[in-house]
Order: sequence, then structure tokens, then C-alpha cells
Amino acid sequence: MTHALPQEMDNHTFRLAVAQFDRAAELMRLDPNLRQRLKLPHRSLVVSVPVRMDDGRVEVFTGYRVIHDSSRGPSKGGIRYHPEVNLGEVAALAMWMTWKCALTGLPYGGAKGGVRVNPKQLSRAELERLTRRYAAEILPFIGPDKDVPAPDVGTDAQVMAWIMDTYSTQVGFASPGVVTGKPLSIGGSLGREDATGRGVVDVTLEAMKHLRLDPKKASVAVQGFGNVGAHAARIMDEVGARVVAVSDVSGGLYNKHGLDIPKLLAAAKDKDQPLRELKLGDGITNQELLQLDCTVLVPAALSEQITAKNAAKVRCKILAEGANGPTTLEADEILIDKGVFIIPDILANSGGVIVSYFEWVQDVQRFFWKEQDIRERLQEIITTAFHRTLEFSKKQRATMRMAALMNGIDQVAKAHLARGLYP
Ligand code: NAD
Repeated sequence: MTHALPQEMDNHTFRLAVAQFDRAAELMRLDPNLRQRLKLPHRSLVVSVPVRMDDGRVEVFTGYRVIHDSSRGPSKGGIRYHPEVNLGEVAALAMWMTWKCALTGLPYGGAKGGVRVNPKQLSRAELERLTRRYAAEILPFIGPDKDVPAPDVGTDAQVMAWIMDTYSTQVGFASPGVVTGKPLSIGGSLGREDATGRGVVDVTLEAMKHLRLDPKKASVAVQGFGNVGAHAARIMDEVGARVVAVSDVSGGLYNKHGLDIPKLLAAAKDKDQPLRELKLGDGITNQELLQLDCTVLVPAALSEQITAKNAAKVRCKILAEGANGPTTLEADEILIDKGVFIIPDILANSGGVIVSYFEWVQDVQRFFWKEQDIRERLQEIITTAFHRTLEFSKKQRATMRMAALMNGIDQVAKAHLARGLYP
């Protein structure tokens, strides 16, 4: 059974998320009524965000907040600032958040937000005004018991601090639980900053155990050197793997003997300069990086990077999807035929939302944990989800992606069936 997608959401990323969902729903023979309900987001908000620019002009940006599902608890998901953000992309990312939270057993639904803007072209003051106005526009949707944003591409702890302040000013008291990924001084959590990258490494090490690969002999290539990619590269380096290539939007750096990751991180931080210009390795393009002969490939930039066009040339043993939706369905099939072990996005990058959950619990309870406790609990939740997915995939003869999706969808379906349909 197929239904046309709402025209305003019909873009390639949403089509990818829906196609994955349809395939999983088919395999699990999901109730057709539920299937239609779970395919479309629960609520979608589009807002205009007028901002006074430093030169006195007013520029109007478009912002979104989409809540895909909240049957199991408050919805959770990041906010993206990127010039190509659109409703379909945000709806796809919100859907993936729903399955991710359910797969890892977090008491959350899924959401995502974004503003169509290039944050690099704004001054800090403009970025603050944009963030506060966007927060004000989505204010009726968000709250610690309703919907809890977090950072994503183009946003960071400072952006979360401005949202927390705007919300708190409106309600009249400090409300740290309204966002996660905040600075420590206002209720942020130890270990949140590198949680997504750490989770990527945790599940990759489990996959290596399963495939009998030695991390100390492994080579790793990472696309994207932002929050997810840079920490994944650092922690891979710390566990003794050889990080042979990293990249950002400008291109990549390569050294077959392993890049000096601490040096790269220090240089990237100090100079806010394109990686390519740092001269700490041989220059390669993003396409070349994706096609390197390596043990582990971590796409940690944007979606749909591995497609029918380049999948046949991908030569990694493990694909650990740090980014959301980096692989198209056609590419999936090619990679599986080649024997690549895929750790799907909703599992591989779930470390971020797992530690966001810890942050929210700490905020709500006003009781803060040690970093060691956070790391151990993260590892426990993410490796349990990994093994549950692996077992399910073996038992059902399903791919890791389908196994993860079916697990997540099943939890959400159970919640819907228990609650019933109002009225
Ligand atoms: P970020 O903004 O911190 O970093 C993004 C990186 O990707 C930058 O290095 C940028 O230069 C690079 N990049 C952008 N466009 C590129 C392109 N066309 N080719 C190659 N590189 C490009 O973002 P992030 O928070 O690290 O998120 C990266 C991915 O991980 C996204 O898909 C995001 O949805 C996903 N993710 C993030 C988190 C999180 O906690 N931040 C959690 C789960 C998933």
C-alpha cells in the first residue's frame, strides 16, 4: 500500500526515510492503519524569522520544527542551521529520531528543527538574534515535557544556551531541561560534547569484535570534521586505530601511516580554517575519501553521500554511519553485496541522544553525574542496542539497517496500539 506524500514535504531525503520505513513495515507486516499514521509527522511548524542585521536591514529567514511522533514521551531532536534546510529534510530527520529513540529504549519521541541559513555568514550578534527569534517562534511547541531540542549541523552549545535563556525568560524561571547540549554552567552534562563520536566508536569496536578485526590494525577514514567526525576521529586514534583520512566541506587530508589527530584538532580549533589548508597530510577530495581502502569508513557530514553512483567503489569493511541518512537504499544493496558490515545511522549515531537523555534526567532531577558514570551508561545502552540489532538481523535474516528500523518501529507501534486512537 502506498500513499502520496504531502507535496510540501516531498523531497529526496524524506523519500529516503519513507522508503526505508516502507521496506521495514512490509517486512514486519505492520498494521496498515498504523503504517499510514507513522509515515507522516504528527506536527509540522513553519515559521518566519525576521532578524535585524548589523547593517540595519531586516532579513527574513525560514525556520521549521517537526514533531514526528510523541507517543512514548516528549519528542527529541536537533536543530540544524544550513542553507539547504527544508521541510522535507527536517521531516525525514524527525522520523529517524523516532526510530532511534525507540531502538535505544529512551522514553522519547522524535523531532527535528532547522533554519534555512548559512550561519558562517552571520556575525555572532546576528546569530544570537536569529536564534532568539526562532526560539520565540517555536516556543509554544517546546518544553521539558513537550519537545526538547539539541544541537545538530551548524548549531552548538552556545546556540542551545540562547534558546534556554529565551524560553526561561518567557516562562519566568530557569528551565534547563528545555534543551540539551548546553554549556555545563547552565545544566549541561559532562560527556555530551563528544557523546555522538564516542558512541560511534563504541559500536564500531563491538562490530570489530563480531568480525574478529583488531582495532590496533584498523585504518579509519572520517568524512566531516565537526562535532561528530572530529570526536570520532580523536577517540578512534585514542583506542589505537590508524586514522588515515579526515575531511570537511573544503576537502580532505590523507596519510596512509595515520594522520597526527591531536595536532590536527589543535590546528583546526586555533585557526577556524578549512582542513585542506592545514597542510597536515596529502590533499584528497571527499569522493576519494569515501572510496579509500580502509577498515572503517565513518560518514559524519550530510545525508546521501553514498549513492548508486559511488557505492561500488566503496572499499571499507565496516560502514559506521555517524551522519543521518548518509547511504541511499540503492547504495545499501550494493554495499551488502560487497560484504560491507553496515552499522546504520539510528544505531551508530545514537550516542548523542543517549547522553542528551542523561542531561535531561540530570536537569529534571537537579542531580548531576560523574563523567565516568555517563561514559559507562552510554556504552551499556549503545552496545546493548547493537547486540539486540545484530541478533535480530541474524534471526530474521534482515540487514542491520532493517533490523534496527524494525526494532524501533515495533516499539512505537506497541505504544500506539496501547494508547489507541483519539477520539
Ligand atoms: P557539524 O556542523 O559540527 O559538522 C559537520 C561537518 O561536515 C563539518 O566538518 C563540515 O565542514 C562538513 N561538511 C559539510 N558539508 C559537507 C560536504 N558536502 N562534504 C563533506 N563534508 C561536509 O555537524 P555535526 O553535529 O557533526 O553533524 C554531522 C552529522 O551527524 C549530521 O548528519 C547530523 O545530523 C549527524 N548527527 C549529529 C549529532 C550531534 O550530536 N551533533 C548526533 C547524531 C547525528
